[in-house]
Amino acid sequence: MKYSFKIGSLWGIPIELHITFILLMAAIFILSYPQLYFFILIMFLFVFVVIHELAHSIVARHYKIKVRKILLYPIGGVSEIEEIPEKPSIEWRMAIAGPLTSFAIGAALLALDQIILIEIQPTPLAPTFSTAGSLMRDLAILNFFLGAFNLIPAFPMDGGRIFRALLAERMKFSDATKYAAFIGKLFGILMTIFGIFYNLWLIIIGMFIYIGANEEAEQIIISTTLASVRVKDVMYPEAASVTPESSLSETLEVMFKARYHDALIEKDGVFQGVVTWNEIMKIKPEQRGKLKVSQLPIKHVSVSPDESILEAYKIMMREKIDLLPVVSKEAPTKVVGILTTEGVAYAYEKAKALR
Ligand SMILES: [Zn+2]
Repeated sequence: MKYSFKIGSLWGIPIELHITFILLMAAIFILSYPQLYFFILIMFLFVFVVIHELAHSIVARHYKIKVRKILLYPIGGVSEIEEIPEKPSIEWRMAIAGPLTSFAIGAALLALDQIILIEIQPTPLAPTFSTAGSLMRDLAILNFFLGAFNLIPAFPMDGGRIFRALLAERMKFSDATKYAAFIGKLFGILMTIFGIFYNLWLIIIGMFIYIGANEEAEQIIISTTLASVRVKDVMYPEAASVTPESSLSETLEVMFKARYHDALIEKDGVFQGVVTWNEIMKIKPEQRGKLKVSQLPIKHVSVSPDESILEAYKIMMREKIDLLPVVSKEAPTKVVGILTTEGVAYAYEKAKALR
């Protein structure tokens, strides 16, 4: 099932709403009806969160880090980047851009409040919220809150990233992550306990922080683990292949027999590329007997036996393939084995046992 929906994109970065965000919007609309001021504020908050996230993304882009998308959750946004920068100086710059932008918007709104005053009756709108009496001031407060909240030194908050970057200046990146994640989890637990007594929202935020910190640590452990295993240690030395002249039906047969999700193409022992299961599935079954493999789009990707599994895995993710040909550096046209997603999973298990 799809849990997030694209609403548009800015500077080529897709912006998606998570289903929980949409549900929260609907709930607030219903609960605040017919007094819709609270709902309007939340809509504004949503815009501010997008700007906050864009600030992260723009700095990321500046350092040539690809931003996959901006995803909005009820308690904030997440910029999904291709890879976490291991250079601390880049990470903290990226992380601090968001809160600084929120503070700047807050200050600008306060200045604007002096020029345009839009008065709002200072009535309590929700049990935990009451207006400051002016739309601009309320919006400024939202931004200051957004900036300050994100500076909490716990993953996946920006403050957690800044904290890790500071640690990583002094120790190994994976160790810095472990410590920062520990602090993050501690924050999450404390917030949840505090929330039980004072505010229901804190419980949700606390749990979000705990899960986020855990995931972040796990992800880093996986990637440092995978970086330590070589392709040649887990590749299959034999590979079933097809020729460019093979029909799609024949190719499917080879794939089924070898239990591959994609097929390797060779011609007279010379490596040609990979044709994916998805490409074959785009062709109607009755045409598969007539069409040749060479008539489909072929991916020209490969990896060398001495490359790390992490690098190989990144290629597989990027190219959306489950089978990566391994070619020797000296003779890059000769396939010496193949790496499959099962091989990657095996590498991970193997490395974890060695740790
Ligand atoms: Zn942020």
